[in-house]
Amino acid sequence: MKEYITIIGGGLAGTEAAYQIAKAGIPVKLYEMKPKKYTPAHHSSELAEVVCSNSFKSNLLTNACGLLKEELRKLDSLLIRIADETKVPAGQALAVDREEFSQRVTEEIKNNPLIEIVSEEVGKGLPTTLSDLIKESITIVATGPLTSDPLAEEIAELTRAK
Ligand SMILES: Cc1cc2nc3c(=O)[nH]c(=O)nc-3n(C[C@H](O)[C@H](O)[C@H](O)COP(=O)(O)OP(=O)(O)OC[C@H]3O[C@@H](n4cnc5c(N)ncnc54)[C@H](O)[C@@H]3O)c2cc1C
Repeated sequence: MKEYITIIGGGLAGTEAAYQIAKAGIPVKLYEMKPKKYTPAHHSSELAEVVCSNSFKSNLLTNACGLLKEELRKLDSLLIRIADETKVPAGQALAVDREEFSQRVTEEIKNNPLIEIVSEEVGKGLPTTLSDLIKESITIVATGPLTSDPLAEEIAELTRAK
């Protein structure tokens, strides 16, 4: 096993994971297929693209959504920090300027010396497969609900779901 952690997917989950792992002093290889290939819902070339609603829901400590965000603030979450810095008026909710939010997250990830961004799609039949990556290093799959077909197919095969 190599001395870095691989993350596939530079969306909300993948960028937060990359930031936290790098903060622990461990190098990260972050695979993101954009801007070479887009899912049907992603249109921006930036990382951490907020698809659909720009609201991260309630900021009130009296409900689960707000409490979770406050816990994330205390744990130095990259995404919640940048969401707080790019927020727009939305009553008791935390809503962001989605373009500024994604740009700021992208800058932080690109400027982190421990994070290498690889602009490549991962999956079955492609130059880089999940099977290759898991032989090399601990690998986090963070490709979200719109995981591309070649990777979804490979995951199904590896987990014998197919
Ligand atoms: C149409 C739609 C509307 C939604 N609306 C809302 C909403 O209003 N509120 C809400 O809370 N949630 C909504 N969601 C759910 C939303 O996707 C999640 O909240 C959040 O984006 C998930 O974050 P993620 O990091 O898991 O995935 P994403 O943010 O989707 O990030 C995944 C990343 O992986 C990349 N990727 C995919 N496959 C590969 C591959 N094979 N190789 C390399 N990179 C790859 C993608 O390009 C993307 O950048 C919506 C989802 C969809 C599809």
